[in-house]
Amino acid sequence: MAEVSTLPLPLPLQDRVAIVTGASRGIGRAISLHLASLGAKLVLNYTTSSTQADLLAAEINSSSLTHTHTQPQRAIPVQADVSDPAQVKTLFDVAEQTFKSQPHILVNSAGVLDPKYPTIANTTVQDFDNVFSVNTRGAFLCCREAANRLTRGGGGRIILLSSSMVGGLQPGYGAYAASKAAVETMIKIVAKELAGTGITANCVAPGPIASDMFFAGKGEEQIKMAIRACPMGRLGETKDVAPVVGFLATDAGEWVNGQVIRVNGGYV
Ligand code: NDP
Repeated sequence: MAEVSTLPLPLPLQDRVAIVTGASRGIGRAISLHLASLGAKLVLNYTTSSTQADLLAAEINSSSLTHTHTQPQRAIPVQADVSDPAQVKTLFDVAEQTFKSQPHILVNSAGVLDPKYPTIANTTVQDFDNVFSVNTRGAFLCCREAANRLTRGGGGRIILLSSSMVGGLQPGYGAYAASKAAVETMIKIVAKELAGTGITANCVAPGPIASDMFFAGKGEEQIKMAIRACPMGRLGETKDVAPVVGFLATDAGEWVNGQVIRVNGGYV
């Protein structure tokens, strides 16, 4: 009779290298922890929250999961502004130098939302440019670098965070929703341009998720409205988004390509 192996199965992302932008807080943080739990090594990007990024790296590096791996350092915090081409290039350079491997996965979670929720009539050019600079130019720069530098032949994954507001179209979100709509268009085209590379490219578009971004500038009534608008009767949490990104990042997600996946409890 054949013996049942007692050896532990390899994790789905065992030793694959993932770059997560906006990893210091919110959704990016939850995604990073989840990818680490699937076995990935991580470049944790941030712009200002160095303490949070350091703590996250320490948490991943000391987690019991790391004991199954040979390399002690599983996660490294890296400061970079995603709207700056040279700094985005550095993220990939650091990934290659630290983990001696081409990166496999790029998750762009860095993003900004104007907490003043201005109508288009009241949006300043400066605020418009700021939103597009981080959300659209940043997504483009990360996507471009990934398209050139992710591993080929299987396992390459580009995952950009968009927003269900592209479908929700609420007043006060004009520049923000437009900045994400551009990202959704770009992902559908880059997925085709990457034909033959084995790299998939998708957007994950959450609805309202309890994070610093969601709560900034909102009163109690606006928060209640977001809850009422969701058939599940609650706000989303970062842990509602991370497993969807995790699935897309694994080999099991290979057949999902060029798509925008809304993760919002039925909000829109
Ligand atoms: P948070 O505000 O909680 O976190 C934003 C993250 O982005 C932080 O890690 C921040 O770094 C980083 N960041 C901001 N600007 C830059 C930059 N120029 N370069 C690099 N990193 C930057 O946001 P969420 O986690 O809520 O949002 C994550 C993504 O999900 C965003 O793209 C957002 O648009 C999208 N989203 C969020 C929803 C929500 O309701 N929360 C709904 C739909 C989509 P630092 O800590 O250093 O400032």
